Amino acid sequence: MNKSFNAFQMAQQQFDAIADQLNLNEAARQLLRNPMREYHFNIPVKMDDGTSKVFRGYRIQHNDALGPCKGGIRFHPQETVDTVRALSMWMTWKTSVVDIPLGGGKGGVICDPHNLSAREQEQICRGWVRQLYTNVGPLRDIPAPDVMTNGQHMLWMLDEYETLTGAKYPGMITGKPVGMGGSLGRTEATGYGVIFTVREALKEMNIDIDKTTASFQGFGNVSQYAIRLYIKLGGKALCVSCWDQQDQTSYAFYKKDGINPDDLVGITDRFGSIDKVKAAELGYEILPGDKWLEVECDILVPAAMENQIKAENVNKISKKVKLVAEGANGPTTPEADAVLKERGIFMIPDFLCNAGGVTCSYFEQVQCNMNYFWSKDEVLGKLDFKMTTGYHKVSKLAREKNLYMRDAAYMIAVDKVVRASTARGWI
Ligand code: NAD
Repeated sequence: MNKSFNAFQMAQQQFDAIADQLNLNEAARQLLRNPMREYHFNIPVKMDDGTSKVFRGYRIQHNDALGPCKGGIRFHPQETVDTVRALSMWMTWKTSVVDIPLGGGKGGVICDPHNLSAREQEQICRGWVRQLYTNVGPLRDIPAPDVMTNGQHMLWMLDEYETLTGAKYPGMITGKPVGMGGSLGRTEATGYGVIFTVREALKEMNIDIDKTTASFQGFGNVSQYAIRLYIKLGGKALCVSCWDQQDQTSYAFYKKDGINPDDLVGITDRFGSIDKVKAAELGYEILPGDKWLEVECDILVPAAMENQIKAENVNKISKKVKLVAEGANGPTTPEADAVLKERGIFMIPDFLCNAGGVTCSYFEQVQCNMNYFWSKDEVLGKLDFKMTTGYHKVSKLAREKNLYMRDAAYMIAVDKVVRASTARGWI
């Protein structure tokens, strides 16, 4: 989220290129280049010290031709409206590519939960819903957690929504704690989904997963579960990087024999920062954060933030790397993407690769709406099926038309939304 990088411009640039390839008419381009609706608002909060603070909140609904909007809410000090716009657009493509009957939305609040008490965060959550409760809901727009928000935040939001509407709507929001309307498997879903697609890609490349090595950026929800499943399937994870809250910079944690997520989780704070001193005691090499990208390995999994693989560092990627699986949203800039394409590095693009979260969120909503909950195995089995089917649909088109995977995924996703918008008589 640095100032010179604009995620929305990047999302539009990606869309424009596909619109040209699909030969879309002007109305379709205008409809999909920009969000359908945007809400920008203030959230006044009485702070613990008695002062008042006003936080800026957003909800952006990019497109709902395929169903109610769906997308997370981020709490981040450098959140910008353009980041939220980009993320809402990527949500539209994400639900479309894995064939979920939902549209794309995203929300955010400019705030830093590191410096807020639980009570202050609750007030932000409730304030967000007070501003929006007529515009979100199970049949309109269903929020979920994202960077620096979690099940507790979702529950506060649900409680405020149900208080204001006077009835129980467990399908209003997803990512809720299990036992309070949450789905088993949601915590694992995005990371596992990343690895389901990696598994399928390696099969197509005739590479045994148990002979591969990987490096991960980020050690939050997505990365932790991706690393776990990757190791379970036989892969060796060599490196993981994360943000250090105290030093305000990132570090990479490297172990040539393979990292152990259980060890690292034990020394990680709730925001995903790993304790350097304790990691060194466990035999990890502590390197500058950007070194995760330079590790000699087969697979790179950026699973932290957008704008991480870019023109300045893409050439530092080792010759050994065969596959990039984008766990994060928008981690690769179009300039870096062109280099990866030229180098023949296989790409599993973000809105396909990390669609496991929204897929499981959709399962959570389905379970909430029928008030009947599935076992974890059932959820993860259905997730595997959706991700594997989505992956193969994209890879088939990529092979048939000799397309880069990102372009193939975009073509399938955009085409489906255009068809739905046309069928509804919008364009
Ligand atoms: P998280 O907040 O749980 O973890 C983020 C991790 O990234 C932390 O370990 C943090 O230390 C690290 N990080 C932040 N800046 C970094 C930097 N500059 N260098 C290295 N590490 C850095 O977030 P998450 O839920 O794991 O989400 C990660 C990414 O995946 C985001 O782009 C998010 O939008 C995307 N995503 C998440 C989900 C989900 O279900 N959680 C679903 C789809 C996409």
